[in-house]
Amino acid sequence: MMQIGKKEMNFTMHASTNRHPAPLRHEAGFTLAELLVVVAIVGVLVAIAIPTFITQLEKAEAATCESNRRSLKSMVTIEAMFNKDADQAGYLEGLLIDCMKQLGDQTNGNSLCPKKGSYSIQGNLETGGIAVKCSIHGLGMDEELYLGILDFDGSWYHQKDENGNDLVDEYGNVLKGDSGIRIAYAIKNGLKEWPSVEGIGKNNKTGTLYIEFKSLEANSSSAFLYAGTNPDPRKNDWTAYYICDNNGLLGESSKGQWYQVPNGVGIGQSTSDARAKMLEILQQNQNNKVNLVNGKFEAAS
Ligand SMILES: [Zn+2]
Repeated sequence: MMQIGKKEMNFTMHASTNRHPAPLRHEAGFTLAELLVVVAIVGVLVAIAIPTFITQLEKAEAATCESNRRSLKSMVTIEAMFNKDADQAGYLEGLLIDCMKQLGDQTNGNSLCPKKGSYSIQGNLETGGIAVKCSIHGLGMDEELYLGILDFDGSWYHQKDENGNDLVDEYGNVLKGDSGIRIAYAIKNGLKEWPSVEGIGKNNKTGTLYIEFKSLEANSSSAFLYAGTNPDPRKNDWTAYYICDNNGLLGESSKGQWYQVPNGVGIGQSTSDARAKMLEILQQNQNNKVNLVNGKFEAAS
């Protein structure tokens, strides 16, 4: 057993050598009090670091789950395209389970959601798209917005209530056209600001962009998403830096794929040529595929 005979315990930290002999009167080292202070400081640093570490870990887990869900969405969509039974009840759910097995094998049988959430199919192929939802991580913000648009009730261009009366905003303005639909959507969903993402926008600078929607024709299933710089759901800015091919204009396998538009384009053309114009923009940028994962656009691998 170690005996402590001195009034003050010294922790000698130096290694004595002949060249640098230790002072005889005061041995260099830490007192117990000093050591306790050091321990306390390290404790504070650890306390700061752990929540940061947990946040990073949670972000990484959410990104893994989202990436897997998007892979599954593509797999299910492509497989369903070649099957005539695709519109039968329960078909997509069964297909999802098959695709999960395939993807699970590729990742050594690990659970596809790091938090062990369960996956389900949202939306349907008829109305223009599906998404895979996690019971813990939910949908991607763009998927949420898109499925929300498809669910949006009422005439697309002229909002009326169930009695056939014009829908108005709180100032009494009749809600009609794309702008009216966006305002009606914002009111219905309590949106003060469009969902924000990270991407490359004006002057090729990285920064905050917002996921917004516009319609190609006068129906919700022709609505498509784009990322622009306008945060306000009540204001229009039809400049797109990223466009999502929700409607599969470049083919079924492109459905739901995002494309970067390097210089930003105006997409506020009249509805008569909107589809042709959109197709042109997508064709010009078809080699600029990007994925939106965890609120961030990244080049598709
Ligand atoms: Zn998950």
